[in-house]
Amino acid sequence: MMEEVCKNVFFLQSANESCNSYLVLGRKLALIDSGLSLNAGFLKNSLRQLGFKPEDVELVLHTHGHADHFSADFLFPRAQIRMAEFDALRVSLKDAMFTCSETFGETFFPKISSFFQPGEVISLLPFKLSVIPTPGHTEGSVCFFEKQKKLLFSGDTLFNGGVGRFDMISGSAQRLRRSLEALSKLDFELLLPGHGAILKGRGKENIKNAVETLFV
Ligand SMILES: [Zn+2]
Repeated sequence: MMEEVCKNVFFLQSANESCNSYLVLGRKLALIDSGLSLNAGFLKNSLRQLGFKPEDVELVLHTHGHADHFSADFLFPRAQIRMAEFDALRVSLKDAMFTCSETFGETFFPKISSFFQPGEVISLLPFKLSVIPTPGHTEGSVCFFEKQKKLLFSGDTLFNGGVGRFDMISGSAQRLRRSLEALSKLDFELLLPGHGAILKGRGKENIKNAVETLFV
């Protein structure tokens, strides 16, 4: 399933167990998270429908370093692959425990081109994605915030109706709570999470409920 959720931003959700992916079609073509290796065919087809090939993807941005988010990166040999340092170092070490690669039956680990820098804004004009560090699901989890279009790509930090797990390696309920509090200060209209359905409006309410379920 592919849906244009706002002009030139496409939500890609396959029927397999992969994470959600998003294509941001700015001056550069960027993909946010790629999914399991078996997601590659779906990504390729989705790109073809838009008139692109995998080689046209210039940037693959990762919300965090779990294998269900990066294992289809092999489809994009020409892309710059980016992730926050903490998670990227574990991906580079092919850490099966941290990345859950064995759980997902994956063996591919991408070569990370560069880490996100503190306060970085990724320019994909007309889109500008602010990298918001949101530790809690993993220590190197980030969200991407597009201020003008009011989009929040939230990875496994925040879902429509819940939050990501915080009991995995480097996860922390306390840090997740602080991250959610930071997200609640952002003005977003569209929540674009790493799994499940997207959410239009009611962002603050969704975070409030999520924080409550965290600490009952
Ligand atoms: Zn995850």
